[in-house]
This record gives sequence, structure tokens and C-alpha cells, in this order.
Amino acid sequence: AQAQLREAQKMEAIGQLTGGIAHDFNNMLTAMIGSLDLMRRKLESGRVYEVGRYITTATASAERAAALTQRLLAFSRRQALNPRPLDVNELVCSMSDLLERTLGDAIQIRTVLDGQLWTAYTDSNQLEAAILNIALNARDAMPAGGVLRIETANVEATCGTGGSADCAPGPYVLIALSDTGTGMDARVLNRVFEPFFTTKPVGQGTGLGLSMVYGFVKQSGGHVRIDSEGGSGTTVRLFLPRFGADAGAGGAQAQPTS
Ligand code: ADP
Repeated sequence: AQAQLREAQKMEAIGQLTGGIAHDFNNMLTAMIGSLDLMRRKLESGRVYEVGRYITTATASAERAAALTQRLLAFSRRQALNPRPLDVNELVCSMSDLLERTLGDAIQIRTVLDGQLWTAYTDSNQLEAAILNIALNARDAMPAGGVLRIETANVEATCGTGGSADCAPGPYVLIALSDTGTGMDARVLNRVFEPFFTTKPVGQGTGLGLSMVYGFVKQSGGHVRIDSEGGSGTTVRLFLPRFGADAGAGGAQAQPTS
């Protein structure tokens, strides 16, 4: 019965999601049809010089619709995972220029890296994209500036109280990103992993960032935990499987081939 309930809830979420997309798409088509219709009328009445602005409106709607389908495509064609043994500290260091440029002068970056960090087993490109997504959210949550702290550590997850529900016990390489931004209330926090859930203005948020982060980390055999409170900032923790650990602990992993 429990599984059935979960399945029903999942179907409901998918229904809401597709309903929302269909609604947005329909609005864009309606605007295009309206503009084309007006254009035809202007042409019929010989007022050719008035057609330009309807072309502009129709083009803008078509571009919005194209951007929406691009995002849908990017989301559905999630890249295949290509996991390898990875030094997460090295990846974080290699991203420092990019992160500084992305976050701007008002946000300070502090990195606290564990010198004895275990080797992780994950896809470095996708981890880089995940870190960038999390940093972009941190930037948006700190419009007046603040601090983004990036920390790495070895953790032996026991998954007791306070652990995330989908945590499997075992050794993980942790990367934690904490911001001093606006934080989230429980209502937002509950929905952050939902594809297309965003609180940002149209054109600014896609609502795909954290759902991609979640998908990638789960696929790697790890888990994600987010702690946040309105007013006091947000911490996103990625628990990545340790290289060479038991498959049962951190998910399936191939052995080194060399
Ligand atoms: P997007 O950034 O496009 O909105 P995400 O999936 O990355 O999509 O995030 C979903 C929502 O979660 C955001 O719109 C925002 O409300 C909230 N959120 C994510 N990260 C943070 C953060 N660091 N601080 C405050 N809110 C956040």
C-alpha cells in the first residue's frame, strides 16, 4: 500500500509538471497565433508598415517556446555517467577561477579542503556542472554579497537520525557548499529537487539545477542533503561514493582497468 501511495504521488507530480509545461507552451502558441492573425489583417487592409511589431511579438513567443523545448530536451537526454576515480580537492581547485568570475566581487569564496581526502568515484564533468549549479543558486540567494564556503571531508555515513532518507551506510567523500544567503522555508525546501520547480522570475530560473544535481549524485551511488532556514543561508552536501569501497556501500562501481 505504501508503494502504491508513492506511485500515486509520483503520478500526480508528473501530471502537475506536464500540465504546467503544456499551459506555458499553449500561452506561447496563443501569442504567436494572435500576432500572425493581426499580421494577416494588416496586410489585407494594405497597412504593411504596421506589420513589423507583430513579427517582433511572434518571434519573441517562438523563441520562448524554443527555449522551453531546449530545456526539456536537455533534461530528458541526461548524459550517461562516466565515473572514474577522482580527486575532488583537485577539481574544486581547478574551478576556482570560474567560480570567482561567476560569483563576482561581492561574494567571497572560502575553501576548506581535507588534505587526507579519499579518492571519490564519480563523473568529473557532471560533478563540475553540479558544483557550478549550486554556486549559481548561492549567488542568486546573496544579491547583496556574502560568503560561499566550500568544504571537503571524509565521512563514514551511518544514516541514523538526521541522515537523508535515501542514505546507504558507508564511506563517502563529502563536498559541502554553504552560503550566507536568503535560505528557504520548508515549503520551498520540500520541492527543490522537483524538475521545473523554481521561485525565480521567468527567464531567470529553469528549476532544473537541483533536480540535475540530485539525479547525477543518485546515479553515482551517492546522496544529497540540503539544510536551509529562511534568513540563515543554505548548505548543500553531496556525498559521493569512495573509490574502492564495497559496491553495497556506495553503489555499483567498476574496478580500475589499468
Ligand atoms: P533554479 O535555480 O533554476 O530556480 P534549482 O533547481 O537550482 O532551479 O533551484 C530550485 C529553487 O530552490 C530555486 O528557485 C530557489 O527557490 C531554491 N534554492 C536553490 N538553492 C538555493 C539557495 N542556495 N538559497 C536559497 N534558495 C535556493
